[in-house]
Amino acid sequence: MTSRPIDVLVVGGGATGAGLLRDLARRGLRCLLVEKGDMGTGTSGRYHGLLHSGGRYVAKDPLAARECIVENRVLRRIAPACIEDTGGYFVATPDDPDDYVDTFPAACAASDVPSEEVPVAELLRREPSLNRAIRRAFRVPDASLEPWQLIQANLVDARARASDAWSYHRVVGIERSNGHLLAVDVADVRTGSVTRLAVGFVVSAAGAWSGQIAALAGVDLAMSPGKGTMLIYNQRMTDAVINRCHRPSDGDIMVPVHTVAILGTTEIRVDDPDEYEITREEVAGLVAEGAKLFPDLPRMRILRAYAGVRPLYQETGTPGDEDGRAISRAHAVIDHEVRDGVDNLVSIVGGKLTTYRLMAEQTADVVSRKLGISEPCTTADVVLPGQEPGRTYWLGHRLAEHEQAGGGDADLVCECELVTRSMLDAFLDANWPCSLDDVRRGTRLGMGPCQGGFCAFRAAGIVAQRLADRDDGPASDGGRDTTALVDQALRDFLRERFKGSRPIASGRQLQELWMVSGIYSGVLGVDSLPPARLPDLESGEPSRGPR
Ligand SMILES: Cc1cc2nc3c(=O)[nH]c(=O)nc-3n(C[C@H](O)[C@H](O)[C@H](O)COP(=O)(O)OP(=O)(O)OC[C@H]3O[C@@H](n4cnc5c(N)ncnc54)[C@H](O)[C@@H]3O)c2cc1C
Repeated sequence: MTSRPIDVLVVGGGATGAGLLRDLARRGLRCLLVEKGDMGTGTSGRYHGLLHSGGRYVAKDPLAARECIVENRVLRRIAPACIEDTGGYFVATPDDPDDYVDTFPAACAASDVPSEEVPVAELLRREPSLNRAIRRAFRVPDASLEPWQLIQANLVDARARASDAWSYHRVVGIERSNGHLLAVDVADVRTGSVTRLAVGFVVSAAGAWSGQIAALAGVDLAMSPGKGTMLIYNQRMTDAVINRCHRPSDGDIMVPVHTVAILGTTEIRVDDPDEYEITREEVAGLVAEGAKLFPDLPRMRILRAYAGVRPLYQETGTPGDEDGRAISRAHAVIDHEVRDGVDNLVSIVGGKLTTYRLMAEQTADVVSRKLGISEPCTTADVVLPGQEPGRTYWLGHRLAEHEQAGGGDADLVCECELVTRSMLDAFLDANWPCSLDDVRRGTRLGMGPCQGGFCAFRAAGIVAQRLADRDDGPASDGGRDTTALVDQALRDFLRERFKGSRPIASGRQLQELWMVSGIYSGVLGVDSLPPARLPDLESGEPSRGPR
């Protein structure tokens, strides 16, 4: 960016912040987004992967349901390459109450969510792993939605319009004079250096962390973070999203995501969005509930557990709502001038990833009105960069592309997710310097059934080669040692991967973990590598049960 002052500083590089940056940039404002980790490492990178049809909310939250189906259609238009059109079903197991099941079609119709009852036998033919005792089934337009590609596409569009986005930059202080924010202090988490940015306007899109950003501005914003745990299975036991037809609860939805399937979720209130753990009891509870949909689930292999924190917001507590499920999934745009007397701060809280664009639009409307900008929102109509209209992705797309390019094993770095050497090189070229975890989010390397066991050391080797070949790389930078840098990158990656394996380490997955541990500790000896004299490539923050 040039030295012209920033019109709007957006805090938070999740889907909402990225969508907001795009929206404001398209209205002619010059904006900067800052994100304390890699883009999409907050809740947006740790969610369930569902493009909601709205079906889950029709009974309890019709507004949220209606917003979901509207945005579901918008995203299919503007971001098709981020969507696998799996379709979805709400199924009535013997445990689900008749009154909920009987009123489900009418509730869908009332919120404009298309639903159609299908013969159970037909669904069982299509999804043979489902419980044979299912009584009724309704088809809805649920789908699977890839978050990181979506976030990047929004950022690319914003960057083409004189705005920018900085990853690994954390807001650490805000200077306020009376009812006006003057400057924001942003720390580079890799080097520790702090930059003071003069700001015209600040929007907090910090999700579950919004209360912390508000506090830096001297404003009290009561968030009610709700932790949700999910389990990743090593196979797709279903090709469609399967929901239980009852009031949303734990372990009642399975979402196929690329080569795996994800069972979720729990909902437990936490005080701090960075401090929580995943317990074995939660895992056991999820499996027991999930088995009502897929009876063989207890015998299937869980790859890992991870959790995200819902950015739920409520001004006052909902009586009797200990777990937070009664708080609306809808969102709130908070103008802190009206609420707290701070004239250039807005927060956007709550919502879902499915509705990120709508949340951004409504927030940008408020900001534009306050700044006297009359440009309308265009984000619902203009297709995002790199998203060919009408082309959703499908499970076999990488294999088809690989075979078209000649196929064979030689070029594959990650066999599970079919990440080729050229894909890895292209990512490193565009994003260097980056960690192996950034590579994982950008390419899906290490996200398949082996969880990095057979590909992490190859990727580390390729990074080492790249560092050695570069004249301007860290090898020649102030005495930094290339080998130590790569060792550390590998250790960081494995540490993150293994954390998610701990709560599910039993049975066949424990055998798999022993084998991977044998490769890295026994053969490669990563535990005895000398400690690196380097700044951490990651933010160094506490674990949140990584995805
Ligand atoms: C378990 C679970 C499952 C879910 N499943 C679904 C689903 O299937 N479908 C769906 O549509 N929605 C789902 N959601 C909801 C959805 O994931 C969230 O609503 C959405 O991702 C929130 O996006 P966001 O950009 O608002 O927040 P985030 O993605 O959390 O972004 C906020 C960002 O702010 C950054 N930040 C915080 N503090 C600072 C600071 N000081 N400086 C700089 N940056 C900072 C954080 O690092 C973070 O990246 C789920 C949520 C959970 C918890």
